[in-house]
Amino acid sequence: MAYDSNNIFAKILRGEIPNDTVYEDERVLAFRDIQPQTPVHVLVIPKGEYESMDDFAENGSDAEIAAVFRAVASIARDHGVADSGYRLLANTGADAHQEVAHFHVHVFGGRRLGRMIRPARDDD
Ligand code: 5GP
Repeated sequence: MAYDSNNIFAKILRGEIPNDTVYEDERVLAFRDIQPQTPVHVLVIPKGEYESMDDFAENGSDAEIAAVFRAVASIARDHGVADSGYRLLANTGADAHQEVAHFHVHVFGGRRLGRMIRPARDDD
């Protein structure tokens, strides 16, 4: 599937939609989720055009992959959750309910997060 350059994160990267940036370097942008689910809820994205984890792992350069994950850890430290703990999530594809087709890692923290996955329901 071809990357859709009309996705919302592509628009954020082009500066067409405002965002609350918490970190940026030549390969990575990180900004607060517009509907935060935890006190710390940051989205970390590569600047390159990758639609999913699958695409990023297959086609991203080693430098891009390293940059995203180093940024994740750095952001967690900067937001004071490296010691208390945090959770990473990268929804990939339909079963995971990926809404935005530009690879992103959610960083959740700032409170007790509970167990990882609740039981599936038919309507989810
Ligand atoms: P997904 O289900 O694809 O993993 O999550 C997409 C996330 O993007 C959601 O948590 C949603 O709140 C967030 N989001 C959607 N549109 C915007 C936006 O325009 N700005 C920001 N900062 N976050 C967004």
